[in-house]
Amino acid sequence: MFEGLSGRLGDVLEKLRGKGSITQDDVNAAMREVRIALLEADVALPVVKDFVNTVKERAVGQEVIKSVTPGQMVIKIVHDALVEMLSGRIGSQVEDEEDDAEARKRDRVAESLNLNATPPVPILMVGLQGSGKTTTSAKIGLRLKSAMRKKVLMASLDVQRPAAQHQLAVLGEQTGVDTLPIIMGQQPVQIARRALDEGRKGGYDVVILDTAGRLAIDEELMEEVAEVRKVTNPAETLLVTDAMIGQDAVTVATEFNDKVGISGIVLTRVDGDARGGAALSMRAITGRPIKLMGVGEKMDALEEFQADRIAGRILG
Ligand code: GDP
Repeated sequence: MFEGLSGRLGDVLEKLRGKGSITQDDVNAAMREVRIALLEADVALPVVKDFVNTVKERAVGQEVIKSVTPGQMVIKIVHDALVEMLSGRIGSQVEDEEDDAEARKRDRVAESLNLNATPPVPILMVGLQGSGKTTTSAKIGLRLKSAMRKKVLMASLDVQRPAAQHQLAVLGEQTGVDTLPIIMGQQPVQIARRALDEGRKGGYDVVILDTAGRLAIDEELMEEVAEVRKVTNPAETLLVTDAMIGQDAVTVATEFNDKVGISGIVLTRVDGDARGGAALSMRAITGRPIKLMGVGEKMDALEEFQADRIAGRILG
């Protein structure tokens, strides 16, 4: 298994004990270990380099507070920088500190999504096959319905695998979220248009469009999804990726962002033991926010993205 960063840094940082401030040499030594930890967590190399440079600049010359060891301090600097990079927020303390009662009334999953458009608001789900698109579509549908009282319609545009359309219908029944009746032989763009039509006629607030995925990226898939996006003009285009995707995250996120255009990312299988480096790579490379994370197979296993939690896992 992986050795956590604190353990890894132990020897290096032991040397810093008793020093007043952190020097360039200390930081260089520590950053070699940080670099290895990030690479082991599957963060892409260019992202690791950028990150290490940012942290180096920040750490050199910092005074070591008496109450903590230099090691703890470097780890805190690294952790904070990771949280910032993952969340796009400056300073890990910027979490809004509202009182609990207020926070409980709100639903952070639903609030992570942009629904600012004329209803029916289209949400497009894209990603590779098996990434968790269909499951996440139903989870989002259920959450919008239960937490925000939205009337939601879901439609599967997967014409390659009839089983996929059926799978969404089953999840729809399970969650009590409506699904578009299946008409065999229609093409994705036609189904998308029919879903929006039905959405308008039926007074739906949101229409979730679950697109087909392939096992690997291919041109045909990208063109198909791009076409659907053009026709439906979604308020959100969410790239769903499995946290276990590893180094492929870079290609997948770049391709979908460049060829289709995405507005946010959903990381699934965060309940598994992936270190989550894919999240950092995707965020850094696309600049798009990671909005949600899937934490299980059950329909309520969907949470707002927590940069803190993923940062902790990346560092091990
Ligand atoms: P799609 O091909 O992208 O539509 O993927 P599916 O939604 O069919 O998901 C593939 C498998 O992953 C299913 O067995 C899901 O139950 C499972 N799955 C999806 N999201 C999660 C998650 O967050 N955690 C876990 N443990 N399993 C998930």
